[in-house]
Amino acid sequence: MQTVTSLDMLRTALAGLRADGARIALVPTMGALHEGHLTLVRRARAEADHVVASIFVNPRQFGPNEDLDAYPRQPAADAAMLEAEGVSLLWTPGPEAMYPAGFATTVSVAGVSEGLCGAARPGHFDGVATVVLKLFNQVAPDMAFFGEKDFQQLAVIRTMARDLDLTRPHVDAIIGVPTVREADGLAMSSRNRYLSPGQRTAAAALPRAMREAIAGIEGGAQVAGVLLQLEAGIIAAGFSSVDYAALADARSLAPLAALGPEPARLLVAARIGDTRLIDNMPVGPARR
Ligand code: AMP
Repeated sequence: MQTVTSLDMLRTALAGLRADGARIALVPTMGALHEGHLTLVRRARAEADHVVASIFVNPRQFGPNEDLDAYPRQPAADAAMLEAEGVSLLWTPGPEAMYPAGFATTVSVAGVSEGLCGAARPGHFDGVATVVLKLFNQVAPDMAFFGEKDFQQLAVIRTMARDLDLTRPHVDAIIGVPTVREADGLAMSSRNRYLSPGQRTAAAALPRAMREAIAGIEGGAQVAGVLLQLEAGIIAAGFSSVDYAALADARSLAPLAALGPEPARLLVAARIGDTRLIDNMPVGPARR
């Protein structure tokens, strides 16, 4: 595995990988890697000739009072994990390589960016869309892999890719990978390491309460009542607040007052101590 930190090095390395028409997959991350990230890498390896992974803690997707400085960083351990998974190229730009002095452009995706985490974290998805568009332009991958763990992010990226012709029409080159969970059901996240042992135990109540809510909704219970009960259950389990608990159309992320024929998703963001956790699960007979 080659590690590159400048655009010039990246371009040279990519030219070498592309020889003979090899297909390149991109796996963007912010590092502090866990099995969730490595699952994306494995999927990418299975579908492409070379995997390019990026590690960049993107300052533009953190709000002024968020955890940018505290965000876990473990570059040597991350590189070793990626190398062991057969990644060909690791792209780890510093902030000045990604956003040189005078950087003035922001990409904003209307609609899917606006509710849920977009409402709770103003500017977050503009930061995500801007950096992901840059990564696409820098690497020019044939396909890119993202986790359903960040379901709204995946919807934002799919919309941007369609609107800005990042991928060929009718080719699903943005590939979503189901959420990888700990044995007790908690979605893996780099932020789980902020949790104290007591908080870590309590956090498993989130996916449990979500599964109960889904059973209620699928069983015909009134959605608004189920969501209120879900919020109360999360707080009773030891969370300090719930940013949102919503049933949404799985494609548009528009809120749903009732389950219809289209694929739906239950999405939650809640805080335990200072740590904000998100999770989402499919809802409905098709469970898509
Ligand atoms: P991050 O480093 O948190 O920005 O995540 C990088 C990529 O890994 C994103 O596409 C995430 O959605 C994905 N990811 C993070 N956690 C998980 C997980 N538990 N299961 C599947 N994908 C994940």
